[in-house]
Amino acid sequence: MHCVVTGCAGFIGSHLTERLLADGHAVVGIDCFTDYYARPVKERNLSGAKAHPKFRFVEADLADGKLADAVAGAEYVFHLAAMPGLTRSWVDFDVYNRCNLTATHRLLEALKAVPTLKKFVYASTSSVYGRYASGDETLPTKPSSPYGITKLAGEHLTRVYQEEFGLPAVVLRFFSVYGPRQRPEMGLHLFIKWVLSGTPIQLTGDGLQVRGATYIDDCVEATVRAGLHAMPGETFNLGGGEIATVLDMIRKIERISGKTATIERRPDRKGDQLATAADVGKLWRHLGWKPTTGLDAGLTKQIEWQRTIL
Ligand code: NAD
Repeated sequence: MHCVVTGCAGFIGSHLTERLLADGHAVVGIDCFTDYYARPVKERNLSGAKAHPKFRFVEADLADGKLADAVAGAEYVFHLAAMPGLTRSWVDFDVYNRCNLTATHRLLEALKAVPTLKKFVYASTSSVYGRYASGDETLPTKPSSPYGITKLAGEHLTRVYQEEFGLPAVVLRFFSVYGPRQRPEMGLHLFIKWVLSGTPIQLTGDGLQVRGATYIDDCVEATVRAGLHAMPGETFNLGGGEIATVLDMIRKIERISGKTATIERRPDRKGDQLATAADVGKLWRHLGWKPTTGLDAGLTKQIEWQRTIL
């Protein structure tokens, strides 16, 4: 199968690319190394895929690059490229608009001319639900940050291209993905880094925010299944199954790493989600997918990885 992965140098995109290659597919990966975090980190993410004979890398910005050649002959397109993270979206709205909306629009336009296309997977987020993202796909969408608004707008663009041009699209709403290569500004990455290095944890809010974090391998498995088998037009919540508060997770990190955390409280983050807990029954009913990695096992793997990059 001929796949395209946008955002292939990122956290989730690099794992997805490796998995598709391991399954025997040919993959064209597109990324422009945005400066959200350091380019060498992304180059490292991509190094495994780059060594694979069925991988072709296209360094291009979806928002203004030439895309026709990169998407020619594509059968399955996984659109993960985006500007993630809610904090910066309050101050850099133009970048979010460009990477999440303009980029998605240009990619959809390019795909109109690709007759081989069988599926387009749009990576969305629990942030489209806003403060209380707990439940199934029928929850009202009410984003609480500019990031969530741009990602929801991307969902709507995708829907409109499906309705007007027959684009076979599926939307996956990811819930806090974690594991090796997790983005360096994400909560669990920071907590583990601080605990391992004996630095006080900067805890925003009261720590009672509920999270249903998703282990990366579970996220990739569901994404591949959705790409190959989901019915176009469907939207799925993709979450980890096990729910814990932020403080619970810090306690787990202490226990697994054998180190004690000190915690310094910081004010709430604007737009922070108070609860994210996906009901993933629809993925089970449609695709036979359930998360298989619990928090203890997943955190153990992420801690092992972070020890290697300290
Ligand atoms: P990431 O930042 O690690 O990866 C995104 C990649 O996209 C980066 O390598 C970046 O350089 C690239 N990119 C951004 N704009 C681009 C553009 N205009 N042209 C080409 N490449 C561009 O992020 P991630 O955590 O791997 O997230 C991947 C996707 O999953 C995103 O769409 C994000 O919104 C979504 N998501 C992630 C999480 C999570 O917990 N990590 C949760 C919900 C949703």
